[in-house]
Amino acid sequence: MKLSEIDATLREIRVSPVKTLGQNFLHDRNLARWIVAKAELTPEDYIIEIGPGLGALTEFALDSGARVLAIEKDRRLAEFLRKRFTSERLEILHADALYYDLRRLFAQPRVKVIGNLPYYISSQLLLKFTKYPSPISLWLFMLQKEMARRISALPGTSDYGALTLIIQLRYRVEYLRTVPSSVFLPRPDVDSAFVRIIPREPDELPENDPETFFRLVRRGFSQRRKQLRNLLREEIPDWAGTAVAVGFDARARAEELTLQQWIALSRRAPSGAPAAEVSTAAERFSVVDDQDQVLGDAPRDEVHGNNSRHRAVHILIFNATGELFLQKRSRWKDRHPLLWDSSAAGHVNAGEDYDSAANRELEEELGIRAELSRVAKLPASEKTGQEFIWLYRAQHEGPFQLAASEIELGEFFPPDVVSEWIKARPADFAPGFVECWKVVEAAI
Ligand code: SAM
Repeated sequence: MKLSEIDATLREIRVSPVKTLGQNFLHDRNLARWIVAKAELTPEDYIIEIGPGLGALTEFALDSGARVLAIEKDRRLAEFLRKRFTSERLEILHADALYYDLRRLFAQPRVKVIGNLPYYISSQLLLKFTKYPSPISLWLFMLQKEMARRISALPGTSDYGALTLIIQLRYRVEYLRTVPSSVFLPRPDVDSAFVRIIPREPDELPENDPETFFRLVRRGFSQRRKQLRNLLREEIPDWAGTAVAVGFDARARAEELTLQQWIALSRRAPSGAPAAEVSTAAERFSVVDDQDQVLGDAPRDEVHGNNSRHRAVHILIFNATGELFLQKRSRWKDRHPLLWDSSAAGHVNAGEDYDSAANRELEEELGIRAELSRVAKLPASEKTGQEFIWLYRAQHEGPFQLAASEIELGEFFPPDVVSEWIKARPADFAPGFVECWKVVEAAI
C-alpha cells in the first residue's frame, strides 16, 4: 500500500495506530517486495507472519504461492485483513504471537517466519521464535536498528553482548540493510534494520552444554568493564591456564572473546563438560529366532553387524492432557543420532526380560519410575532394525532427569502434531518409533 492508501484505509476502518502495539505501517511497496524476496518463498513453504498490520508483506508472501499464517493481535486489523485477502492459502489468527504454540509448526514440511516486528516486544518475540529445537528454517525480521546490530555483532564492538552470543550459538545472523523511519506511517522514533537468521548445522560448532554457556555469558557480560577473570573465578578455577589453552589474554573482558572461545570456556567449566560417549562395547544381547525364542547371545556390534533378530523395548510417556513426550536422541548415539524417538527406548540385554528392560530404560534415560502397561508387541522386521519390540505406555508429568549421553533434549507434543509431523518430515524420526506410533494411531 502507498502512503495515501494506508492513510485512507486507517480512516475508513477507524483505526489510529496504537503506539503501545508498535503499529508502524510500511508504505514502501518496493521495500516490502524486496523483503519478501529475501525469503525465497515457494509454494511448498509455510509462512508465519508476525504482526501483519494492513498486509504490506502479506500481499507479496501470498504472491509466491506459499501458505501464510498471519498472527495479528489487533482485532480491527485482523478483521480488515480477512476482507482484504480472500486467498484460501491465508489463515489469519487474531492472537498474541507471544502465546502461539510453536510445536504445531513441526507438522509443516518447511517453515519460514517473517515480520516487521512490533518493537515493544521484539526481543521476546525473537527469543520465542528462535527457541531450540525449531522446525523453522529461516527468519526474516525488521527490528530496531540497535537490536539488529546487537544480534549480528562481531567481537570487540560495543554491540557485542550476551544477546549476540545467545542467538549466535544456534543461528547465523546477517544484517541485510538499514531502513529509515520514513518508510513507515507513523514514523517510529528510531531507525530500523532488516536481518536474516538461519540455523547453524548441528556439527558446525564444538559440542557444548547450552545452560553452562548461557550462564557464563550472562555472568561475563553482567559488568562489561570488568575483567572476566574477576567475574568467572568460581566457574573457571584455573583461569591463567584456560586463557592460554583457549587463546585469549588473561585480562580480557567479555566482549573480546569470540563465540568459539566462549564455547571453549564453557566446556572447561565443571558443569559444561560435554556428555561423554557411552561405551557400548561390553553390551550383549540375546539373539532370537523368528518366533522370538532365544538362540544364544552375542556382543552388540555383532548382533547389529549380522542383522540378527534381537529384542528391544519402547516406552511412550503421556501426560495428563494426553501429550506424548518425545526425546531427541543424543548426537553421540551410534544409531540415528539427533533423531526424535520414543520417550525412552533400548535393547533388552542378554538374560533380561522385556519388563525389566523397560523399567531399567525408564530409570536410566528419564530418571523416573512409572507404572507401565503393555500396548503391543511388534514383530522383528527391516523397519524395526530386526528388533522384536514390546511397546509400553505410562503416564507422567515430568520433569525428567534426561541422561545427557543418551538424550539431547525432550518435549511433550500433542498426538495430532506427532502424526502430522511424521507425515511431513519422516526423516526427523528414528524408524523404530514410527513403527510404534503406527500401532498407537491404529488404537486411537
Ligand atoms: N507488518 C505490518 C507492516 O509492515 O506494515 C505491520 C508492522 S507493525 C511494526 C507491527 C504489527 O504487529 C502491528 O500490526 C501490531 O498490531 C502487531 N502486533 C503488536 N503486538 C503483537 C503481538 N503480541 N502479536 C501479534 N501481533 C502484534
